[in-house]
Amino acid sequence: MLSRLSSAVRQAASLVTQFCVLGERRCVSCHEPFLPEKSDALSALFCPRCRPSFRRREAGYCPYCGEPSALEDAPIAPCGECLRKLPPWNDFLFHGVYEGALRELILRGKFSGGLDALEALGRMLAALCHEHYAATLPPHVLIPLPLHPSRLKERGLDQCVEMARPVAQALSIPMRSDMLWRTAASVPQATLDRAERKRLRQLFGASAEVRGLRILLLDDVCTTGATLSRAAECLLEAGALSVDVVVAARTSLHSPPAERPGKGGGRALP
Ligand SMILES: [Zn+2]
Ligand SMILES: [Zn+2]
Repeated sequence: MLSRLSSAVRQAASLVTQFCVLGERRCVSCHEPFLPEKSDALSALFCPRCRPSFRRREAGYCPYCGEPSALEDAPIAPCGECLRKLPPWNDFLFHGVYEGALRELILRGKFSGGLDALEALGRMLAALCHEHYAATLPPHVLIPLPLHPSRLKERGLDQCVEMARPVAQALSIPMRSDMLWRTAASVPQATLDRAERKRLRQLFGASAEVRGLRILLLDDVCTTGATLSRAAECLLEAGALSVDVVVAARTSLHSPPAERPGKGGGRALP
C-alpha cells in the first residue's frame, strides 16, 4: 500500500517537474496546447498527434543527394543521377520529404512570415547536424543559401538565415551570410532546360575568406539540387576545403503532383 502510494506520489511529482521544466506549449503545427514529455527537438515542438508527420526520414533515400525512393523503408542506396555523376558536396543531410505537414510548415515559414515555423525547422536541423557532427569533423562556418535581394525585399525576411540561427548555435560555429551572394535572380527550376540550368552557374559569387574552410551550406528545400550544386561549386572554386549541405526537405518524384514545386498546385521554389 505504502509503496503504491509512494509510486503515485513519484508519478505526480514527475508530472509537476515536467510541467515546470518543460511547461505547456503550443504545437507549432496545429497550435493546440500540449505538454512535452521529452526534451528532444520533435517532442518539444509538436503535439503527440502531429509528431509522427515530422519524423526524420531514416531510410529509402540516396545518400549523396537525398532523392527519396518510392518506399520509405527501402535501403539507403545511390540514385541513378548520382551513379552517373556525384554532386560537388561531401555530406548531404535532410530532415524529410517535401510533402504533407513538413511542406506546409516550410510554406508557412517562407510565404507567410511564420517565424515560429522557421525557428522550429531550424531546431530540427540543429538536432540533425548536432548528431551528424558528433561522429565526424564539424564545419568551420555555416552559410545560409542567399536569397536574391529582390526576393528578400518581397518577403521581408530571409527564411534560410532564420533557419540557420539554431544550427549555428548547436554547432557553436559562426553563421556567415556575407561569404556567398547572388549575382542574378533565380527562376523556378522546374521550368528550366539543361542549357538554362547550366547558366545558373553564374548565379553566385563567393568571398576569398572561404579559402581552406569546411563549409556547411543550408537551404530550406532541395528540388533538383541545381542551385545548391552551383553554390557549392562556387565555394569550392573560391578555395573552400569542403562543402556539406543541410536542407529541411527534399522533394520527391513519388509525391502527389500537387505537392511538387512548379507542378500542379505546388508553388515555385527558387
Ligand atoms: Zn499538433
Ligand atoms: Zn542521388
